[in-house]
Amino acid sequence: MWEEPCISGKNGSGTVFFSGCTLRCCFCQNYEISQENRGYYISEDELSDIFFDLKKKGAHNINLVSPTPFLPSVKRALEKTKPALKIPVVVNCGGYELAETVDMMDGLVDIWLPDLKYFSPEASKKYSGAGDYFKVASEAIIKMQKQVGKPIFDRDGMLLRGVLVRHLALPTLRKDSEKAIEFLGENFKSDEILISIMSQYTPMYRAAEHPEINRRISTFEYNYVLAAAQRCGFEGFSQDRNSAQRAYVPPFEGEKA
Ligand code: SF4
Repeated sequence: MWEEPCISGKNGSGTVFFSGCTLRCCFCQNYEISQENRGYYISEDELSDIFFDLKKKGAHNINLVSPTPFLPSVKRALEKTKPALKIPVVVNCGGYELAETVDMMDGLVDIWLPDLKYFSPEASKKYSGAGDYFKVASEAIIKMQKQVGKPIFDRDGMLLRGVLVRHLALPTLRKDSEKAIEFLGENFKSDEILISIMSQYTPMYRAAEHPEINRRISTFEYNYVLAAAQRCGFEGFSQDRNSAQRAYVPPFEGEKA
């Protein structure tokens, strides 16, 4: 239930978490799954059954969380099930994806839900182990948008197709956030992608190894990042800092600078 409103809706999003990740973020909230490979083995048929089970429970979409390490199997399961599923397939990832990965999912994914975490190579190397993060993620996001096109919603406001880029605001990195968001503003028209600015950062896992990010973000930092998104004029979502960590407030509005 804790995705953006156009993904979660009333019934919730049908998330399937895959063990492993293409990144190694030192602050990962899901580190047991993403970096310690907790999980259990299932067959491709069992994965297909999970998709149908989630649909039966009323999920608005099938939401694949970090599926890249298992993509060939995921692809085969989707090829078998997608025609009968008739609900959107979401790929929810850290954005650090090869062009070939995006191509592999052509025709099987309806909604890309990538992060754009950093602009600076120093920050991405230090906190996520990938100095080339921005180069790889920015190229992947451009490719994702070309593949699925502009956002399309149903009459209830649920996203059926498109790219929703997430940005998690980090302590001390508000200017880096601004540059990442400006990249989106320079490369996409305001109706071509959605963006979501997240305030939920909590120093977990190995974040304490870096004193400068061993705290929540301040209201000043969050407002600074939100203002950058508003200047670019995108439709999007922001998290309410004063309510539960994962609660979202309605779309923000803003003028393109
Ligand atoms: S991209 Fe997300 S899931 Fe992967 S390590 Fe980073 S925070 Fe965790």
